[in-house]
Amino acid sequence: MNLILLGPPGAGKGTQAERLQQDFTLAHISTGEMLRQAKADGTEMGLKAQEFMDAGQLVPDEVVIGIALERISKDDARDGFLLDGFPRTVPQAEALDAEMAGLERRITAAILIEAPDEDIVRRISGRRVSKSGRVYHVEFDPPKHEGRCDVDGSVLIQRDDDKPETVRERLAVYHRQTAPLIEYYDAQGLLRRFDGTRSPTEVHDHIRATIATLRLEDEL
Ligand code: AMP
Repeated sequence: MNLILLGPPGAGKGTQAERLQQDFTLAHISTGEMLRQAKADGTEMGLKAQEFMDAGQLVPDEVVIGIALERISKDDARDGFLLDGFPRTVPQAEALDAEMAGLERRITAAILIEAPDEDIVRRISGRRVSKSGRVYHVEFDPPKHEGRCDVDGSVLIQRDDDKPETVRERLAVYHRQTAPLIEYYDAQGLLRRFDGTRSPTEVHDHIRATIATLRLEDEL
């Protein structure tokens, strides 16, 4: 099972990835998380990525393609992966297809979580993250103790790129550069659509049922 999570920033890809990872044995691969880690570690790549991320722009294809494809070929991703935030451009999708063909593997489905722009802005502005990367929402998914992570107890913070001006830029970038992937995967018969305005639990139930069906079909 090699799955791609597609959708605008803030549609719930990360939340669903966390839940699906518990249901199925899949390596959760988030290029955003890898880039943030590189930034925190102060690596050359992290520093290069930082200016794009802070401006709400996409990090150049050659940088992201390199880290994503390297990660896919690691051992823990051999039995299946859940790509969260990659691919985000047509050249990235093409590079992924070429890599998969080389590995004699194929994409099982592209899971599109859709939500209107107004909802996105509201959601992202309430989003808070912990040191270990666990994501909360002040209104929709608050931690047990305000401002503190349930898991690691760290103080929750707002990501720089979750600030309103950056969110608007990220949405514009999504419509311009990532939305064409909807057509790309639809044309390959791989697209599955989900209503991201539903509660995280409803979205999760729908996606899980779809994946279970896909898995059955795969085993037949
Ligand atoms: P995310 O956490 O997936 O929303 O990613 C945060 C930021 O990392 C994005 O706004 C981009 O600047 C960068 N990024 C993550 N994944 C990609 C990608 N596949 N292509 C280009 N930039 C990316």
